[in-house]
Amino acid sequence: MTVAMKTSAEPIVLDLTGMTCAACAARIEKVLKRVPGVESATVNLALESAEVAAPGALSDRLVAVVEGAGYGARLRSRDPKARRREVEAREAERRHDLMQALAVFLISAVLTAPFFVVMGVMVTGRHVHAFTPVVQLMLATPVQIIAGWRFYVGAFKSLLGGSANMDVLVALGTSAAYGFSLYQMIVLGEAADGHLYFEGAATILTLVMLGKLLEARARRSAAAAITKLMDLAPPVATRIGPAGPVEVVVEDLRLGDRVLVRPGERVAVDGVLRQGASELDESLVTGESRPVAKAIGDAVVAGTINGSGAMEIEVRAVGEDTTLARIGRLVEQAQIAKAPVQRLVDRIAGVFVPVVLAIAALTFAGWMLMGAGLEAALIAAVSVTVIACPCALGLATPTALVAGTGAAARAGILIRDIDALERAHGVDTVVFDKTGTLTEGHPIVTDVFTVGPGARDMLRLAAAVQATSEHPLARAIIAAAKLDGGPFPAAGMARAIPGRGVEATVDGRAVAIGNEALMQDLGVDLTFFTAEADRRGAEGKTVVFVSKSGEALGLIALADPVRPEAAEAVAILHRRRIDVRMATGDRADVAGMIGRALGLDRVAGPLRPEEKAGLIRSLSADGRTVAMVGDGVNDAPALAAAAVGIAMGSGTDVAMETAGITLMRPDPRLVAASLDIARATWAKIRQNLVLAFIYNVVGIPLAAAGLMTPALAGAAMALSSVSVVSNALALTRWRPRRGT
Ligand code: ADP
Ligand code: MG
Repeated sequence: MTVAMKTSAEPIVLDLTGMTCAACAARIEKVLKRVPGVESATVNLALESAEVAAPGALSDRLVAVVEGAGYGARLRSRDPKARRREVEAREAERRHDLMQALAVFLISAVLTAPFFVVMGVMVTGRHVHAFTPVVQLMLATPVQIIAGWRFYVGAFKSLLGGSANMDVLVALGTSAAYGFSLYQMIVLGEAADGHLYFEGAATILTLVMLGKLLEARARRSAAAAITKLMDLAPPVATRIGPAGPVEVVVEDLRLGDRVLVRPGERVAVDGVLRQGASELDESLVTGESRPVAKAIGDAVVAGTINGSGAMEIEVRAVGEDTTLARIGRLVEQAQIAKAPVQRLVDRIAGVFVPVVLAIAALTFAGWMLMGAGLEAALIAAVSVTVIACPCALGLATPTALVAGTGAAARAGILIRDIDALERAHGVDTVVFDKTGTLTEGHPIVTDVFTVGPGARDMLRLAAAVQATSEHPLARAIIAAAKLDGGPFPAAGMARAIPGRGVEATVDGRAVAIGNEALMQDLGVDLTFFTAEADRRGAEGKTVVFVSKSGEALGLIALADPVRPEAAEAVAILHRRRIDVRMATGDRADVAGMIGRALGLDRVAGPLRPEEKAGLIRSLSADGRTVAMVGDGVNDAPALAAAAVGIAMGSGTDVAMETAGITLMRPDPRLVAASLDIARATWAKIRQNLVLAFIYNVVGIPLAAAGLMTPALAGAAMALSSVSVVSNALALTRWRPRRGT
């Protein structure tokens, strides 16, 4: 089982320029991996970036290596201000490139259009002598120079770097068609008419440019999702100083500063509400569309929009440390990462161009040997070169991933681990944790039962022992004791036993609080309390026992209401034919009651954290693909053991690093939604790969057989890129289905 946790230091991220296809990406990856000290390198074509696991000191060397291979590279800054400037500069650069490409395309299109008109007329069966060879030459030459330029440059760089990319195919194919036509003209003069392929060369270049334009647009819209996320937190805030409110840039704020958020304003920092009350639109961070009421003491995160009240917030995190920035980084990392299937595609793309060149050479030789003549042989070979461009293949997976993870993030689902996404499409069993996942996770003490009259003393004793515990039960006990009043006794260092309870020394005596298993371990006799405990357990209450010096003092019963969406969440999963189970550290009778109430297929408890992981492993051994849903704290072993670990965050305090998928708000219905988007993304990847391969698999033999003109081959190639990209972009419209 793999643990989806990054162990090494932060990876080095490079922004790349000059990549034209999957072969370029594969090439850059190869040169990066060859650098000593580099553990791994992944290049994402859609986002034009590389993630390299290597010591930070290597970054200059990495940039140099990429540049040596003929591409542009820049180290991505970590500082949010610099990063924002970089993103803007890159945006501007991309816009500039796009405008330039658009101009080149328009000029080529205007010059190529007359050929199209003639071709159109010829299709109707009439023969036209529209253009003399000289006119054809005059139309095609500027296209060959202006549009061909970038392909010549790209091809030259690529060959210089010792590899062959798509530019080589385009440059070679069109030059052959153009050069051959020019030769015919010189040798045959006016008689060459009918044996010229100027229109082929011009059409290919124009359509490839069109394909590139569409591709660039698709890339921009994918990258825009991230840029938008980064822009959500305003760069300025209103600090409340001794002289009243002053506007300051966020970078000048210190932790503990107070900032004022006026009605309708967007929150610039993470913090805690200290004055006032309001309701916040948190949809951009958690995907929840209804406003969330905030009272004094509540956490507030950057990027959310204030409703009708004014709020005074104590700053807890700014800039890079905010939840929003962390989300942005995680989404970015996930998108850069590569799906396992992509690694295969890259290997194919890396050898694709040489293989295609070989096929083209064979085609040429074959036609010549059959005595078909130079013209037929050359044209068939040119068509092969053009139709075989692997650009659609390179775009198939990354565009789908970027679109899918982006749509998920908008719905409050953070997909951090692409491998988990790949596994998620096959999930047939979902195991939920109970506390905090299916239940609210904010238990309240309902009653305290003791042998003697000292119920309140025992509660205070329990609270003292729990003081350092983060467990929801501990917080409930402390809250109840505080409400009751009176001083807590002084407790020594407490020791938590995960899934069982806590122990500490009070007044030199060992005090323990926990479940039956803990008491058994300590040899505490519970006989007197069993009936009382069972009675409360049957009501669905959690029961913990308190012991002192090995003697049972009494028990505390707590109720943790089931989340209102839990039953619906289970029903939605059942509709997807998924086996839904629960694993809990709580008593079997409590587990059973909740299981019946929610319609779960099976419940298991009481289980310790390792036993939960063991359960997941044994389910996996039975051939199931298991998703584990937990709060990400004491469920970490089980989350790691599952094929897909889904951590449920509270939206503000998120344990984002432990699981492959994190839900940004505690709504168990999002589990089905995340499996849905994983499935949808997966389906898109498969469709795209099939689409891309079909073009090549069908196109190459047709072209080799001489059944395709170069112009038609160019059109087919452009169409394959366009269909792959638009198919992937359809995913950006994905929204979670609301069950009824
Ligand atoms: P779940 O699996 O429901 O999330 P845990 O694994 O966190 O529950 O805990 C399992 C059981 O262990 C609890 O139901 C409780 O009986 C006991 N326990 C764990 N931590 C504590 C604690 N701090 N105080 C008292 N009991 C505890
Ligand atoms: Mg739990």
